[in-house]
Amino acid sequence: MSTDLLEVQGLRAAHGQLVAVRDLNFSIERGEVVALIGANGAGKTTLLRCLAGVHPSAAGRVLLDGKDITALLAHQRVRRGLAMVPEGRRLFDDMSVRENLRVAGDHGRPGDWTLPKVLEALPALPPIIDRPAGALSGGQRQAAAIGRALMTNPDVLLLDEVSLGLSPLAVEEVYRNLAHLREVGRTSLLLVEQDLSRAMAFADRVLCLREGRIVLQGPAESLTREAVTAAYFGVEASVEAERPLETQP
Ligand code: ATP
Repeated sequence: MSTDLLEVQGLRAAHGQLVAVRDLNFSIERGEVVALIGANGAGKTTLLRCLAGVHPSAAGRVLLDGKDITALLAHQRVRRGLAMVPEGRRLFDDMSVRENLRVAGDHGRPGDWTLPKVLEALPALPPIIDRPAGALSGGQRQAAAIGRALMTNPDVLLLDEVSLGLSPLAVEEVYRNLAHLREVGRTSLLLVEQDLSRAMAFADRVLCLREGRIVLQGPAESLTREAVTAAYFGVEASVEAERPLETQP
């Protein structure tokens, strides 16, 4: 039996005439951490939004735990266990972090991620739990947004550019929190990360998108930086698409 938790089959998405995601096929296993990389405009955000159900798909299917969720709306997908931390991390600024988390919990599904568990998994949160979201720094907002998504008890968490606009210190903090989360191992992560080194160091597997297509994928430890960079910029000759490469000395 397949251990795939999320299966994407022939997924296509467009913005008007412009096809941003072209017939993508990939899957993510339970507990797996997958980094989605690619240059600006490669289709990463469109893919994530499409999976979350906030952008329509033009063709293909998305299966979560073997069930077809393609026709479901975003909030219905959240209830099935698919949540997204969007780029820009929208929070209710007038509400405290605690209230933001509670509201999310009310709109998710029951499960192991209770408020105490989320606070334990994201050490950045306890010190700021009673602060208004509007008063947080960028890194703190990001941690709160991740916590909010966790409160819905996702099996799969989609994260769009968690580092965007953050100071290097804040990025470190966000990744320390994500590392905690990954140790808990309960949630699969699909994260867009522009920093190649970080993506390759953090993820179990890397998916490289170019012009809406997967041009390279494989276990992070078996991909060389050269192969990933070549795929990223479109130097076809040194790229073996859809197949892990051997580790090179
Ligand atoms: P970035 O790193 O710049 O966010 P990305 O890999 O996330 O890039 P997308 O934002 O998904 O890529 O964009 C994919 C393609 O779709 C690009 O050609 C982009 O110009 C186009 N696109 C994205 N959003 C829209 C929109 N709202 N309307 C029209 N075209 C769009």
